[in-house]
Amino acid sequence: AKIRVGLLFGGRSGEHEVSINSAAAIAQALQIGENGSKYDILPVYIQKNGVWLAGDTASKVLETKTPLSTEDTNPSQLWQFPPQVQEVEVWVPVLHGPNGEDGTIQGLLRLMQVPFVGSGVLGSAVGMDKIAMKMAFAQAGLPQVKYRAVERSQVWSNPCIFPKLCDEIEADLGYPCFVKPANLGSSVGIAKVRSHSELETALDSAASYDRRIVIEAGVNARELECAVLGNDNPKASVVGEVTFEGDFYDYETKYTEGRSQIHIPANLPDKIVTQIQEMAIQAFKTVDAAGLARVDFFYVEETEEIYLNEINTLPGFTKFSMYPQLWKATGINFEQLVDQLVQFALEK
Ligand code: ADP
Ligand code: MG
Ligand code: MG
Repeated sequence: AKIRVGLLFGGRSGEHEVSINSAAAIAQALQIGENGSKYDILPVYIQKNGVWLAGDTASKVLETKTPLSTEDTNPSQLWQFPPQVQEVEVWVPVLHGPNGEDGTIQGLLRLMQVPFVGSGVLGSAVGMDKIAMKMAFAQAGLPQVKYRAVERSQVWSNPCIFPKLCDEIEADLGYPCFVKPANLGSSVGIAKVRSHSELETALDSAASYDRRIVIEAGVNARELECAVLGNDNPKASVVGEVTFEGDFYDYETKYTEGRSQIHIPANLPDKIVTQIQEMAIQAFKTVDAAGLARVDFFYVEETEEIYLNEINTLPGFTKFSMYPQLWKATGINFEQLVDQLVQFALEK
């Protein structure tokens, strides 16, 4: 009998639309070639208000790649899961950002006692929170740019502390530096700052996104990415590079066609490629990731310094996304990749 795959997409996050696009590509891949005779897909769509929908409505969202208006449903339906959910034998969560990539859904799926693709609660949560992630990486001896962690309460509630805090950060990290809400993705809420007053504004704004904020020394570097696949014995792909015009790789640059380019493989000395692949696997293990992750780096060419930037445990997964493209260049095509991910979930 075919394995019933629950494709979970949409989600209560700023990356709802990206999720629909990734899920549409994965749905197609699960239906063609050998996968078609192996898997049955049950699409389950999480609306922006958190309500779960299955059946024709969910399929329609996948087909049209357009979010469904939340007008017809209300949050009182929140815990009324559609009956199809009971039939799922393995879940494929294709949710990015908060409420999807951060361990929340993973905890729910764990409670359902149904296997799922990707990292569990711990790996997802540590991978999502930039402060927890950096602390884990630091403990593992992985090189990172200099950073500071601050709390919203330090920014907001005590007017005497704030100016002093900004002075300290300025002295510690200099300019430019990057201010980031700890628990988002897709560059949402991230600011590059170049002065004391910009720092104050950026911290105040980041505090409106998250209780936890991280500030990093800015580096002038190439941005490299490496894909990791597997469970206890994960493998690293070839290394890719992202280039773009503009100040940094912000939300608009990421999702406006033509604003950024990916280069696979990146033009790099073999020695650097090997180091990045090793660091990617180490990063994966350090946060206890599983199944898949994309590990991102800064590379300062002049000094040959490599800094680990972050791990993304549910990276973008359209046909054009870096993660599947990296595996394609490494010898695993999109359909094979999706198949392997489901198999890794079943053996986890
Ligand atoms: P996200 O998880 O939202 O992708 P990142 O930490 O990867 O957040 O930051 C988004 C982008 O901001 C990076 O791809 C890079 O272009 C820029 N950036 C972030 N931190 C730094 C830094 N310390 N130095 C230089 N550029 C940075
Ligand atoms: Mg990220
Ligand atoms: Mg990033």
